[in-house]
Amino acid sequence: TAKEQGRNRRNYFTPAMQDSVQNKIALANDLRTALADNQLTVFYQPIVSLIDNSVHKAEALLRWQHPSRGFISPAVFIPVAEENGLIIDIGNWVFRQAAWQVKSWRESFQSDFQISVNKSPAQFRYEGNCMYEWFDFLHQQGLPGNAIVVEMTEGLLMDSNPIISSKLFLLSDAGMEVALDDFGTGYSSLAYLKKFDIDYLKIDQSFVKNLENDADGAALCESIIMMAHKLGIQVIAEGVETTQQYDLLRAWGCDYAQGFLFSKPIPAGEFETWVTERTVEVSPLSI
Ligand code: C2E
Ligand code: MG
Ligand code: MG
Ligand code: MG
Repeated sequence: TAKEQGRNRRNYFTPAMQDSVQNKIALANDLRTALADNQLTVFYQPIVSLIDNSVHKAEALLRWQHPSRGFISPAVFIPVAEENGLIIDIGNWVFRQAAWQVKSWRESFQSDFQISVNKSPAQFRYEGNCMYEWFDFLHQQGLPGNAIVVEMTEGLLMDSNPIISSKLFLLSDAGMEVALDDFGTGYSSLAYLKKFDIDYLKIDQSFVKNLENDADGAALCESIIMMAHKLGIQVIAEGVETTQQYDLLRAWGCDYAQGFLFSKPIPAGEFETWVTERTVEVSPLSI
């Protein structure tokens, strides 16, 4: 009966339900207060150099501690924020947090530290002046453009809207670096890699996962690294969880790695402890 179904259903909060319209409306409303009520925080995940294991970069990843639902994944609420336009305010907030953080870390332990922030297509398509607000903010903080790396997905490059390309050129002009996130999962023509000033490709974690047992994934990773280097682009592997993956990527000349093998995304304070307590052993490259 429907009643039974209803009862059963209450026990399972399935991804489909997460996605339901009602749920989205509720989330959208809650998200409006989340910013004002300090329910959002930014975590940081280290990006490790595969040359010497040093850490000069981190990715800023948004977290939402909802007062009654608990932790909600950005994979769930970012799409909601994109739909209702809140992504603009949220994105600007994340940017300011990241800028303050990179300023502090540049002063305390690494003068060339960089923090990357994710920028969703909706932020690029927005016609407002937020790009200049970002530049002004960095300038006020006394930070150069390259203190921040902007991560975006490759699909954006296919967008024929002139706003997109002009914003990308503005970013490069201001000295900010650009990373193509989740590389290999979207649709993009390789020609775009040359057309735009792309500094990093981030190999999607689906190719890195199980690399040691998956000949196709391995072939893809190795070819992406080779191609990127020929174009003068550096490569960051995402989702690195095992030492075998680390060893293979390093042997293939991958520049950076990010993943649970090193650290999950953690609060800024924990990040500082992690960096200072880390002992780094570097084995010589086998090739
Ligand atoms: P992304 O930018 O590709 O971020 C990488 C995701 O992979 C993060 O998920 C991170 O926690 C996860 N990850 C890192 N290392 C590993 C690993 O070794 N294994 C596994 N299984 N996962 C790993 P997270 O934090 O849940 O973020 C999901 C997505 O939400 C991000 O994917 C990004 O697209 C979006 N996002 C997060 N923060 C922001 C933000 O401030 N603004 C925007 N526009 N999007 C954001
Ligand atoms: Mg990212
Ligand atoms: Mg550049
Ligand atoms: Mg990614």
